[in-house]
Amino acid sequence: MKCPKCGSEDVTTSVNTYTKSKKRSFLWNLLMILLTGGFWILWMCVRARKEKVVKKKYHICQNCGKCW
Ligand SMILES: [Zn+2]
Repeated sequence: MKCPKCGSEDVTTSVNTYTKSKKRSFLWNLLMILLTGGFWILWMCVRARKEKVVKKKYHICQNCGKCW
């Protein structure tokens, strides 16, 4: 791995993981619970288990400090 800025090979690679979830507002959930008669809660429980784990790689140059 080479730094695109200075060309140094002294680069550290790290992996950053985070969960990607689409969170709706409380009022939206309340409205949907009323509209679906409680089925929305079940739906939310199913959805919550399907949260995506996103892995993002990033590199830090030890020479010039560039992060990409
Ligand atoms: Zn560099």
